[in-house]
Amino acid sequence: MIIQLQQGIPAELLEAILQEVKGIGFKANEVKTQEAHYIVGIGKKDFDIRTLGQLPGVADIHRVSDEYKLISRKWRVNPTLIDLGDGVVIGEGNFSIMAGPCSIESERQIELVVEHLKANNVKIMRGGVFKPRSSPYAFRGMGLEGLRMFHQHCRQNGIKIITEVMQVSQIEDMMDYVDVFQVGARNSQNFNLLDALGEAQKPVLLKRGISGTLEELLQAAEYIFSNGNEKIMLCERGIRSYENAYRNVLDLNAVPVLKAKTHLPVIVDPSHGIGLRDHVEPMSLAAVMAGADGVIYETHQKPEEAFSDGQQTVNFQESERLIKRMRQAFELRESF
Ligand code: PEP
Ligand code: MN
Repeated sequence: MIIQLQQGIPAELLEAILQEVKGIGFKANEVKTQEAHYIVGIGKKDFDIRTLGQLPGVADIHRVSDEYKLISRKWRVNPTLIDLGDGVVIGEGNFSIMAGPCSIESERQIELVVEHLKANNVKIMRGGVFKPRSSPYAFRGMGLEGLRMFHQHCRQNGIKIITEVMQVSQIEDMMDYVDVFQVGARNSQNFNLLDALGEAQKPVLLKRGISGTLEELLQAAEYIFSNGNEKIMLCERGIRSYENAYRNVLDLNAVPVLKAKTHLPVIVDPSHGIGLRDHVEPMSLAAVMAGADGVIYETHQKPEEAFSDGQQTVNFQESERLIKRMRQAFELRESF
């Protein structure tokens, strides 16, 4: 069950509600986010919702039987919108394009990508400075120095930053330079990191694990919300299968299914999803038609020279065409 409390509820009323929830045999978890104050009741017993609903201080109450609760659409029907400021809003009614290199490599590269994004009115740039790599000998990112440079150029040009955070200790150092923290597929169930991002309050893009189920993804998102942060978007980035003709299997089934189960925005990453640059465009267009709220993809001035993931990275010419076509597809979808 979820109880939304009235704003600024006095301590004695809160205590009375907590006692009542415990009294019916439920465990009561208090959750305070940047938006509101809730009690999440965990239990299986049947109860009369009216008894709790009429208690002073209760603004709203719902039964939610799913394992994840605060992120469930059974409780919140209206889609969540994530406002990054300066008119950049992610979620229903908008189609957000996030593009940039797999890794931040140099100041020149940042300048070129920023110029490309600006020319195409793209407001969010991606780029990793802390890179999870399968081999310890591969390029592992420019770290904070790269992030500061990334931030400086994006701020000057009105572009928001999404970049991956790999561990709890990096959050504080990255905080002032980031608009959206990305949680990578390999960290999708790093529960300490999810807890800490819940407390950090910045928007988070949470990727699906390499072999993660949707249920696991949703429960991971619940970790972030229940620690105080409602600004979460989910990202389908392909899952591992027996097929080896492409890097991953982009599971577009996940888009409508997630959108039915949760009020959070759903983003698709076709670059990691298929892993082949020639096929990023059709999969991006399919993602738009499947109902995605946005796409995050990799682009670079010279993909063949990229420090990481060049094989799935489109050049600026291909990127420009992709942006135009995704916008056309979104318009068509909105007209249905
Ligand atoms: C990335 O976005 O470059 C990345 C490493 O993604 P994922 O965590 O989905 O592999
Ligand atoms: Mn990559």
